[in-house]
Amino acid sequence: MNRRDFIKAMGWTAAAGLVGPAVGAGAISEKKPNFVIIYADDLGYGDLSCFGHPTLKTPHLDRMAAEGAKLTQFYSAASVCTPSRAALLTGRLPIRSGMCSDKRAVLFPDSGGGLPKSEVTIAEMLKPQGYASGCFGKWHLGHLPAFLPTSNGFDTYFGIPYSNDMDRIKDAPKDANTKPEVEYFNVPLMRDEEIIERPADQYTITRRYTQEALKFITKNKNRPFFVYLAHNMPHIPLFSNKEFRGSSLRGLYGDVVEEVDWSVGQILDALRKQGVAENTLVLFSSDNGPWLVYKQHGGSAGPLRDGKGSTWEGGMREPAIAWWPGTIHAGSLLTDTASTLDVFPTLAELAGAVMPEDRIYDGYSLVPLLTGKGPGKRDIMVYYRGTQLRALRKGPWKIHLFTKTEYMGQKIQKHDPPLLFHVEIDPGEQYEVGNQHPEIMADLLEEVKKHQATVKPRPSQLEIPLAKGS
Ligand code: MG
Repeated sequence: MNRRDFIKAMGWTAAAGLVGPAVGAGAISEKKPNFVIIYADDLGYGDLSCFGHPTLKTPHLDRMAAEGAKLTQFYSAASVCTPSRAALLTGRLPIRSGMCSDKRAVLFPDSGGGLPKSEVTIAEMLKPQGYASGCFGKWHLGHLPAFLPTSNGFDTYFGIPYSNDMDRIKDAPKDANTKPEVEYFNVPLMRDEEIIERPADQYTITRRYTQEALKFITKNKNRPFFVYLAHNMPHIPLFSNKEFRGSSLRGLYGDVVEEVDWSVGQILDALRKQGVAENTLVLFSSDNGPWLVYKQHGGSAGPLRDGKGSTWEGGMREPAIAWWPGTIHAGSLLTDTASTLDVFPTLAELAGAVMPEDRIYDGYSLVPLLTGKGPGKRDIMVYYRGTQLRALRKGPWKIHLFTKTEYMGQKIQKHDPPLLFHVEIDPGEQYEVGNQHPEIMADLLEEVKKHQATVKPRPSQLEIPLAKGS
């Protein structure tokens, strides 16, 4: 009887601290684990039923959380798409990789830049460990050949290389009763480096991304694999396949989220059916908070303040679920602070890869937290917008140096003294308490200085224009 069977036979669980990571000391599996990251676009903290939405139904994500772990203080590293995705895939703050800008929030079809070659993606880190990697969905780290997934360690790519509202011919309607048309957005659908459809039929896009990911899982079930399934939904314009149209009590936005939920169910079912569920870590989260200016077409940050584009909690704290039957204790509620920046070192540890030592990383392995062996290692979270450090969290305390309600026309407000909130007692950031805690304010300001001393901003890749004729 191997150790895993022994632990199972004894009825012990990860919560008892007895199940270790799949590699290293006390290994529970000789096989390298598979990884699946499912990333939604602009999904808010409050948009899943297991995160408290009253009318949106997400039974598959709810089941995933019941069988795995729900992380309630999990942050993306930026409040908009491009920098958030760069941070997830490289484990580094976008200011270090040049994947943010004060002039342009994200990459656009007229951008000539992308993720610098010198950055190491998760797929590149996993390749020498024998992994097959597939990217399905939204990329948004550069649409020119040099920057596409297939130039960044992925063996295959199928998706829209940037946001689904780009290449606009007409604006998306903000009125909840008006549905957008696919033809308003002349976005390409690519397979590897080739455009295969334009405009992409977005009504079927969630379904097709899912089908491609399922094919990849089936094909690679006998070797370690990494699936990065980055849905374009529920970013506006909202599209769902016909089975989901009109199905949700939450309206059109609910229809598309419920289709993403269906997709998650398909992936988890396939992992079970292929017999690899117990050797696969699946993570679900979102790149940034809800795009509130789109009203009913935008999501909800639940109890958190503000949304996409802002450094209030609603902009960067995301719903997160981790699933790994037999290794993550079913029904875990993890309230430790964690981030997409922690995914790279987590997967590196589990795959037995050595972290590159020639650069600064901004994350910590989540293996102890996820396996119930110890607390999370993250004490500090920094909140950037572009290259500006706007806020910092240490433990339960957060200071805001600058705030701006994004996309609402408000100017950036500088706070001197900064605003101080206790975001565990007051996750909605409603009650400023700076006057009562001068020593905490001073400590956090010291952390701001310490962090800033580690940052040497790289020139922005988002400001590079497309060369004429390309
Ligand atoms: Mg987004």
